[in-house]
Amino acid sequence: MRRKLELYIHIPFCVKKCAYCDFLSGPASRGRIEEYIQALKKEIESYRKFAEDYEVSTVFFGGGTPSLLSGEQMEMIMGAIKHIFLLQENAEITMEANPGTVTEERLKAYKKAEINRLSFGLQSAKNEELTILGRIHTFEEFLESYEIARKAGFSNINVDLISAIPKQTLESWEETLTTIIELEPEHISAYSLIVEEGTPFAELYGEDGKWEEMLPDEEEERNMYRKTEEMLQRAGYHRYEISNYAKRGYECRHNLGYWDRTEYLGLGLGASSFLNQTRFHNTEDMERYLKNAKEHENIHEEIEHLKVQEQMEEFIFLGLRKMKGIAETEFAEAFGTDIWECYGKNIRRVIQNGLLEQENGYLRLTKKGIDVSNYVFAEILSED
Ligand code: SF4
Repeated sequence: MRRKLELYIHIPFCVKKCAYCDFLSGPASRGRIEEYIQALKKEIESYRKFAEDYEVSTVFFGGGTPSLLSGEQMEMIMGAIKHIFLLQENAEITMEANPGTVTEERLKAYKKAEINRLSFGLQSAKNEELTILGRIHTFEEFLESYEIARKAGFSNINVDLISAIPKQTLESWEETLTTIIELEPEHISAYSLIVEEGTPFAELYGEDGKWEEMLPDEEEERNMYRKTEEMLQRAGYHRYEISNYAKRGYECRHNLGYWDRTEYLGLGLGASSFLNQTRFHNTEDMERYLKNAKEHENIHEEIEHLKVQEQMEEFIFLGLRKMKGIAETEFAEAFGTDIWECYGKNIRRVIQNGLLEQENGYLRLTKKGIDVSNYVFAEILSED
């Protein structure tokens, strides 16, 4: 029987770098994009033999800005994928799109290329906040892109939002949520801003702290976080992962696969893979990738075979991100041992502290536990 596989395709190009972004992406010429697509095709084709053992359940085009690709380019990549891999009939095929980069014609072509889920990186409905983030689009441009996506027939759309943006207030965050709820996307991801090292943001905060005071304080940030859950739940979105909300039946299958430790193959520059309990990623060096895309030994890096204990740890800290939690039976099936035997003492302690609960054979974070999820994971996996 064929095994289930998810595909991730990295498109590392953006119109311009956002101020907070540390993803592997940047501006590129048309020629460079074309060269990259040709290399990607070669890499896809190099998995012909490997593909015989798998059936692909989801494909995710991430970036960067995949919507910089023309309809033809997207069709070419999807054509190569379908030529090599067996796709499940109802495979979820997502593409990240940046407002301001899509046209009706392009969206129709993506639909024709069998993309059936769009993920818009909006971040905020407030233009002042979009400017602070260094985004290339306004809210009005997002609205236009969203409407033409609906017109082009996309019935499964995610909107990404960010809270705790400098100068953002609880009130402006509520306004963003209200505006997006009114549009009724099927899925909303809501993350808090993290100031990553090496980004223009980090420099602004680091120097003399003059930007630091523009960040919402900890209490305000907590309030935004709570407001998100309250408003989205009330509007019919259920929280199925710490930062992800969906209408019933529209949970992102691709991301659920990550948290369930489904095998995935990453294609393209820097893309990560998880196969046969081994994690590795492709080179982040563009020249090297373009030259060696089909030679796995020349582009795979940091190959890490996970020991059983590491697999168990991943099972716990990835699985507990899901609101439904982890099934004790699944742990037993995967590792041939009882989760209580391995982590019982620590699990009991976090349950006593009100951070974890056990119900119907599942262990899951409590509301209090979600607020301090990283602490809970560390407590369960600690050695004493
Ligand atoms: S569009 Fe996305 S990937 Fe590109 S620079 Fe902005 S945040 Fe980064």
